[in-house]
Amino acid sequence: MSKTRYSRQVLLKEIGTQGQEAFRRARVLCIGAGGLGCPAAQYLAAAGIGTLGLIDPDRVDESNLHRQILFGTRDLGFFKAEAAAARLRELNPEINVRAHVDRLSARNAQSVLSQYDILIDGTDNFASKYLINDAAVKLGLPVVFGSISQFEGRASVFWAKEGPCYRCLHPHPPKAAIQNCAEAGIIGAVAGVIGGIQAMEALKLALGALRPPSLRLLLGELCVVDCGSLSFSSFGIRKNPACPVCAGAPESIELVDEPLLCAATTDPQSLEIPEVTAEELGHASTPGTVFIDVRERSEWRLGHIPGALNWPLSELRAGEEFPLPEPPSRIVLYCQAGIRSREALRLLNSGAARLDASAPGYYSDRLCHLRNGILSWNGPLAR
Ligand SMILES: [Zn+2]
Repeated sequence: MSKTRYSRQVLLKEIGTQGQEAFRRARVLCIGAGGLGCPAAQYLAAAGIGTLGLIDPDRVDESNLHRQILFGTRDLGFFKAEAAAARLRELNPEINVRAHVDRLSARNAQSVLSQYDILIDGTDNFASKYLINDAAVKLGLPVVFGSISQFEGRASVFWAKEGPCYRCLHPHPPKAAIQNCAEAGIIGAVAGVIGGIQAMEALKLALGALRPPSLRLLLGELCVVDCGSLSFSSFGIRKNPACPVCAGAPESIELVDEPLLCAATTDPQSLEIPEVTAEELGHASTPGTVFIDVRERSEWRLGHIPGALNWPLSELRAGEEFPLPEPPSRIVLYCQAGIRSREALRLLNSGAARLDASAPGYYSDRLCHLRNGILSWNGPLAR
């Protein structure tokens, strides 16, 4: 291990050579190699975290480059996990960097997460955040949480063994569509601020028993940073004795891909939203069926159902009309996970958005949305 490389942090009495050795032994997984994962992983690699994993199924898109700082123009089209790993190995050849080109799901969560001691949540969707939380509670692992939108960022440490989990704060995912970066917009530097906080918390966690009380963990506390007005606020989070996940026995936790929960029929509103599953659709396009992809254009470009039209929810919300080539017998709306398409369907049925030449609700008997979105689609994708 190079002494010079880490000399400036080993100088700190809270770290020292023992702390550096703890960093070398630590295994940290960044879930999502995007706006948060890039800066977090960069600092962790530089600090000498011995095993650093990155899991992300996506490829680098040009619209990522303003905030996903491990990537350059030459990485466009390559898998994020692999491009980030290559950059990190260049930064620090002394550490072991692992790339998992995969989407975290209920199927693989336990086998992937159990290879690590500390998790960094750098995802931008609720399905992943709830899955990470539930799997982490089951495995007893701490999660360094982060989320960003527009000028605001949030960070916390969730660790059911020592404090609250994410579901103690928000027991269930929201039913309504929540915008992600592709829709709401984001300043890259905000991702840097929150990703940096996440790296710092992961380093404190990596110190384990060596961590002095002066290095306080962001546990039981939600830090909210408004980079627009530059204000920091923090909110206490208590462990919920009735938490649906961490109040029970960890071994009895069942991992679920959360969009399934969103579509649960216990929600009376969901009964009014006609939906179709990928199995019901089959892989071939049926004559008379029109697919409308309501994700943003950058998401659409990375892969969509062949023949689908693109009508981003942001434009649909703005009340624009959407021209249809010919009156279809069925219109299937879809998005990434089935949350935005539900919202789009609701807007169309309420008359807040209109398909070409239709009076409000004109096509309502032919509209449905794809439950669980393109994530559930096993057929071919077009680019
Ligand atoms: Zn909990």
